[in-house]
Amino acid sequence: MQSKFINGNLLKRYYFYDHVLLNPNQKMKKILLVLFAMVGYAASAQPFDYSVANAHSHNDYNNLVPFYDAYTNGFGSIEADILLQDGILYVGHGVEDIKLKRTLEDYYLRPLLADVQKNNGHPYANPDKSLQLLIDIKTDSISTVDSLVALLKKYPDLIYTKSIKWTITGNRPDPSLFTSYPSFIWFDGEIGKNYSNDALSRIVMMSGDMKEFTDWNGKSNLPAADEAKLKTLIANVHQLKKSIRFWDAPDIINTWYQLMHLGVDYINTDHIRELGTFLNKLSSNSFVSADSYKIYQPTYKSDGATKKVKNIILLIGDGCGLAQLYSGYTANRGALNIFQMKYIGLSKTSSYDNYITDSAPGSSSIASGVKSNNRAVGVDHNGVPVPLIPVFVEKKKIKTGLITCGDIADATPADFYAHQTSRDNASAILRDLKDAPVELLMGSGDESLGNVSILKESEKSKIGDDILTELKTKYNIVSSVDSVNENKKDKWIVIENRAGLSMLNGRGNWLQHALDKSIKVLSKNPAGFFLMAEGAQIDYGGHDNNISYVATEVMDFDKTVGDALRFADKDGETLVIVTADHETGGLTLLDGDYKKGYVSGQFSTNDHTALPVQVFAYGPQSFLFNGVYENTALFKKILDAYGVSGK
Ligand code: MG
Ligand code: MG
Ligand code: ZN
Repeated sequence: MQSKFINGNLLKRYYFYDHVLLNPNQKMKKILLVLFAMVGYAASAQPFDYSVANAHSHNDYNNLVPFYDAYTNGFGSIEADILLQDGILYVGHGVEDIKLKRTLEDYYLRPLLADVQKNNGHPYANPDKSLQLLIDIKTDSISTVDSLVALLKKYPDLIYTKSIKWTITGNRPDPSLFTSYPSFIWFDGEIGKNYSNDALSRIVMMSGDMKEFTDWNGKSNLPAADEAKLKTLIANVHQLKKSIRFWDAPDIINTWYQLMHLGVDYINTDHIRELGTFLNKLSSNSFVSADSYKIYQPTYKSDGATKKVKNIILLIGDGCGLAQLYSGYTANRGALNIFQMKYIGLSKTSSYDNYITDSAPGSSSIASGVKSNNRAVGVDHNGVPVPLIPVFVEKKKIKTGLITCGDIADATPADFYAHQTSRDNASAILRDLKDAPVELLMGSGDESLGNVSILKESEKSKIGDDILTELKTKYNIVSSVDSVNENKKDKWIVIENRAGLSMLNGRGNWLQHALDKSIKVLSKNPAGFFLMAEGAQIDYGGHDNNISYVATEVMDFDKTVGDALRFADKDGETLVIVTADHETGGLTLLDGDYKKGYVSGQFSTNDHTALPVQVFAYGPQSFLFNGVYENTALFKKILDAYGVSGK
């Protein structure tokens, strides 16, 4: 546990944590962490502890909009170089800048004063958020600092507040004079320099030129020797209870991560918007898993066997690309059931009318072997219904089950039983169940059957009730997986509220439980089964641009895959296929730690992408799934594995 940020920012860090979606375990950890943070400083920093409070705008006056660019991004520290001429303080790097007539008052003091007055004496609307003004003296130290002191005294609102720090750097007076300045003046110390206790009492931060300590270009990791040297320097500064900052450091995303790992308190930047966005999104872009689970060790006895299969379990991670899988892998300390599967292919996911698919044609292609338009469920691009896998396998008396941790009428499950040109027509989709050879369907009904945005206010409960009444002629409709009795020869619909919760909000092991129950029901059929299980919410995490959401959903999905593999080994005639309908979020992973279960990345969109998705197969006929192919090819491969004709 550590605290490296020493500018009175503990509360800010607490805020930061509150933005992360945490489970109760993690919440406890958070509270502990904050308690520890109040005690003192330790060595190991974590990127997810950082916020824009740690951002320093270097040479701020050179930006398109000085002060405001950094201020509106919430930066914790802003730097202005100042020059004294004829009793006036100008901002700029050298005397040639004086002719630009940019005065400290116009560019910094007046704008800041306006905000402080607006925020009842605080620089930011959040009263716990502080701001450091780092004043870099470019002309004679004594006279320039004296002018600065005189000028600041004209702005009492800016100096008699704890949440603004005026810190002097550049041409500083001799350290022996530090204590002779008014109490609102603080100093930036030089890393490696020895100071008296008196001088230290007025130093809040230590800075240094990164190039003096390493010629690292900012890519990959620091050379080990340089890293050790820097860690010692940083520890020494933290020992003195001062913040640390390096200027002249590389200013790219990888460097920012590495500086955070080192425990550097202020990240110095000339790229305000990029660093601001990076730090503002860091909490939703980072995840540390409190838990990990043991993966199943397959026997591989029937893996790759040429005999036809009796059962297929098709697991679709909605929106689950390789980065999503790898976030789960990293969070689970470098282990994933899915990665135990040896037969691997790539599925190209474009729809008939778009380079980028949505979920509807994404899995409709798998279910029908036909590419269709975005939003289309079980119809071709002309809107004509196409037969789906359950219809083909029924000819061999193979029974179908569908489970999802989303809505039962949502696109992915609907793709296996409905024929509608629009995925939004939930009531029509559910009515299609009457004619579909589907033995069981499990999921939530929050959206399609009640409280739903897609239905008009007047239609809500009425439609839900009507549809259920119609479907009751065919199905036993129950509100929990536990209510399903596998010993009854019934068809089942389970509409369970818990199914629609995210893992972060307490879905628990619902998907595993539903898979287990479905297998029990469907295994009673001597001719075998086709079971589609959807990890629906990996996609939601991608749309939300939230790695915690993504990784926890992937881990749940993967546990379910582990159960499927275990069943396949016991059964010997079951093929397990794990794939996705598309990738969501354009996720890429930029930082992680297998030992800590920590992963951090960036999303490039809040929608789907065109990236091909992985296909993993395990069991007899798994070799069919090797290669690179269109998603429609999965249809034929599945039927071939059964030995069922696709005509
Ligand atoms: Mg400067
Ligand atoms: Mg879906
Ligand atoms: Zn989606």
